[in-house]
Amino acid sequence: MKNLSIDPERLWDDLMLTARIGATPKGGICRLTLTALDREVRDWFKAQTESLGCAVTVDDMGTMFARREGQRADVPPIAMGSHLDTQPTGGKFDGALGVLAALEALRTLHRAGYETFAPIEVVNWTNEEGARFSPPMIASGVFAGVYRRDWACARADRGGETFGAALDNIGYRGAQRCGDHRLSAFFEVHIEQGPFLEAEDKDIGIVTGVQAMRWYEMTIVGQDTHAGTTPMPRRHDALLGAARIVETVNRAARQFPQAVGTVGILEVKPGSPNVVPGEVFLTMDLRDPDAAVIDRMAQEIATQARAIGAELGLEIAIKAISAEPAVRFDSGCVAAVRAAAKISGYSARDMISRAGHDAAFVSRVAPTAMIFVPCKDGISHNEAEYSSKEQCAAGAQVLLQAVLDYDRQLAERYGR
Ligand SMILES: [Zn+2]
Repeated sequence: MKNLSIDPERLWDDLMLTARIGATPKGGICRLTLTALDREVRDWFKAQTESLGCAVTVDDMGTMFARREGQRADVPPIAMGSHLDTQPTGGKFDGALGVLAALEALRTLHRAGYETFAPIEVVNWTNEEGARFSPPMIASGVFAGVYRRDWACARADRGGETFGAALDNIGYRGAQRCGDHRLSAFFEVHIEQGPFLEAEDKDIGIVTGVQAMRWYEMTIVGQDTHAGTTPMPRRHDALLGAARIVETVNRAARQFPQAVGTVGILEVKPGSPNVVPGEVFLTMDLRDPDAAVIDRMAQEIATQARAIGAELGLEIAIKAISAEPAVRFDSGCVAAVRAAAKISGYSARDMISRAGHDAAFVSRVAPTAMIFVPCKDGISHNEAEYSSKEQCAAGAQVLLQAVLDYDRQLAERYGR
């Protein structure tokens, strides 16, 4: 087989070019899903892939599939990709690297005139981040049959606009029904978003699975009253309850060696300096490689919340809004990544993803694996997020090799 090499400069140029769409003063990106900026980067992605001869399909959750034909049109495509939406103070690499590394791998095939056995597709999943519409990974969730499409389309952002309306507004509600798109396999490159690869000086993470994750919403209702005239013993201060719950979540997670627990959103009503807060909305994110540990954390937090509510005279309602089990990736796809890292001459280690990814949902309906590259100081969901040109290139090169390896596995299976 010809030795195909991706072009590190071209990949880096794409990363820096698309980073201008929604660029923040501190060097990050704010490109929330289904906004005008998201449309701009989607239009760019569509134009790039079409210029390589790809046909671009959009499904009715807005997910984009750019397809390059192979020898066999009847074989489902091998897909690779990630997401182009970001957090409000996101970095240049989370998601973007996975889509642009896939684009660079596709370009490399195109320039070499390499004919694969299966069609190859680059995917841009809608709303991976969940920053504007909760839950995260909503489109890959519908794709995998975890969420219902109508429910997903009715999810509203904090301003009241629904996911479906936002899709229509940017013109990316496609004709294909989400999920009616079979894949032979899916590969996702991503920055690690954690410290292990950098600390161990490894080029590539061979991701064998994803830790379990649960999201909750909590509403705390007390009573808004005058901040000057209401004596302390007569208050039902919802924010005081929320403060104690933030502490409780932190303490619950610290009881387990691998667990993490986070309150990421706190909305205080009515939000006036001289009114005792009567209502607080907050979100809670709990994770551990073992789902049973999350159960124990959630139970303890619920028990504590009841005690806090009783003491302060508050009504506290906890609603579970998403629950992702621990994921084990496909052994054939993981083997393709391992072989790809080896043949490309990169140091590598097996690891579990500590963050949620579209690949976790896709793995329910297609053989899937992920490739991690190091990021500086393990920092992500932050404008300072950084991976070097060489680190990004290594991810793209391993992606290309893994896809070609899997393509050969497929050709054998179909008895070419
Ligand atoms: Zn991501």
